[in-house]
Amino acid sequence: MKDIQFVFSSIAAADSIVITMHQKPDPDAMGSALGLFHFFKAAGFNAQVISPTNWADFLDWMPGVNEVIDYESKREQANQIVEQADWIFCLDFNNMSRTKSMEQVLLTSNAKKVLIDHHREPQSDVFDFGISDISKSSTSEMIYDFIVSTGKTELMSKETAQCIYAGVMADTGSFRFASTTASVHLMVAHLKGYGIEHAKIHSAIYDNFQENRLRFIGHVLTYRMEILYEFNTALIAIPKSDTQKFHIKTGDTEGLVNYPLSIQGIEMAALLIDRDDERKWSFRSKQSFDCNSFARKYFNGGGHYNASGGRSVESLEENIAQFKKVLKEFSSLQQ
Ligand code: 5GP
Ligand code: MN
Repeated sequence: MKDIQFVFSSIAAADSIVITMHQKPDPDAMGSALGLFHFFKAAGFNAQVISPTNWADFLDWMPGVNEVIDYESKREQANQIVEQADWIFCLDFNNMSRTKSMEQVLLTSNAKKVLIDHHREPQSDVFDFGISDISKSSTSEMIYDFIVSTGKTELMSKETAQCIYAGVMADTGSFRFASTTASVHLMVAHLKGYGIEHAKIHSAIYDNFQENRLRFIGHVLTYRMEILYEFNTALIAIPKSDTQKFHIKTGDTEGLVNYPLSIQGIEMAALLIDRDDERKWSFRSKQSFDCNSFARKYFNGGGHYNASGGRSVESLEENIAQFKKVLKEFSSLQQ
C-alpha cells in the first residue's frame, strides 16, 4: 500500500471514482464519504458514493445522501459502476469483509483502490494506496487532512464542512474522547467558517428517533442487562423477540452499548444483538480494557482499543456462555 500523497494529482478528469464505506454506515462513514464526494464534485470529477447496505434515518439530512446508492437494493447498477471505476476510495474500514456482500466485486475490480481509515491492522495487501492512522479521531478528520494536502481548500463548501463535522462529532463522542486533539478543534474552527450550524447537526443525529426506540432502551436496560461486577463488565443481550416487538430498525441500537459505562466501576460494556443471519457484538471500554484484541481473539472482529465489534453465527445463548468464559480467560491474560 503506497502513500496517498500523489493520489489526487494522478486522478484524470475523465476518471470515474467510487467512494464506499463499511456496511450500515455510521455518521463517520457516511460523513467522510459525502465530504469527499462534495470535494471531488467541486474539483470537476465524476464520483459516486455506494453504501454496502442501507443506513439509519438520522443520516438522511446529510447533503448528497439522496445520490448515494444502496448496494443491496441496486446491486446490478452498483456492480456496473464498480466494474467501470478507475478509482475506488474505501473509507472508515480496515478489512474488505466490512463491506459485506460488496466485498467480491471490490476485490475483483481493476480500479486502483485507496484506503483512508483509522482502525487497527488494515488489510494493506488489497489496497494500492492508503493511509491508516489510529491516532486520528475519525475518518472524516482524515478526509479533511486529505483535502488540505491537495492544496485545494478553496474547493471546500458548506456541504463538505457539514458532512465532515458530523463524522468527527460522532466518532469523538461529541468531542469528549481522548482522540479529540488540538488539531481537531482547529479543524472545527475552520469548518465553522463555512457557516455550519453545529447545534442543528447534533440534534439531527441524536434527537431524531421515534418513541418506540426510547421504550425499547428502557426495556432492555431493565430486563436484558447483566452486571458482572467481578469483571467490572456489563452485558446487554437482546433476543430477536425484543427487536421485533419494538419495531427496531437500522440505527435504533446505535449508542446503546455506551449506557452501562455510566455505572461507577464498570470498565467494559458489551452488547449482543440477535440479527437475522448472525449475532452482532459491540464492545466499549473506558480505559484499560483492550476491546480490539478481545473482539479479534474471540468474536471474529476488531476495531479500536476502546470500541470494537464482532460477529458470530452461534446462537444468542451460546454467545453469552462463550462471552462469560472468555472474559475470565482474557482478564487473567491481562493481569
Ligand atoms: P460498532 O460497535 O459501532 O458496530 O463498532 C465499533 C467499532 O468496531 C467500529 O469502529 C467498527 O468499525 C468496528 N467493528 C464493528 N464490527 C466489526 C467487525 O465485525 N469486524 C471488525 N474488524 N471491526 C468491527
Ligand atoms: Mn470512524
